[in-house]
Amino acid sequence: MKKRTTVYEDRAAKEEARKKKRQEQIEKHLVVCPHCGEKVLDHMTKCHKCGGKLVPRGYTPMDEKKVKIIRGVFWGVTLAVIAVTFLVVMLYK
Ligand SMILES: [Zn+2]
Repeated sequence: MKKRTTVYEDRAAKEEARKKKRQEQIEKHLVVCPHCGEKVLDHMTKCHKCGGKLVPRGYTPMDEKKVKIIRGVFWGVTLAVIAVTFLVVMLYK
């Protein structure tokens, strides 16, 4: 015979199971930092504790040069849009 549980007990059990599952998912992605031994997530490029460089699993991070170019283009476009908006507002006021 199945043990009778209240709605609240069921909810608590479900919540507990969800937490456990989440913890298992996180633990699957934990690796040990070769520099300090701290547990870090496997996608990280830098250790959060010692700042040591890590090799992320599954993908290769974009190189710094490319990131700088993309950032430059982003800010260039953003400033151009702001400048044009400002000019349009000033001209048609
Ligand atoms: Zn570390």
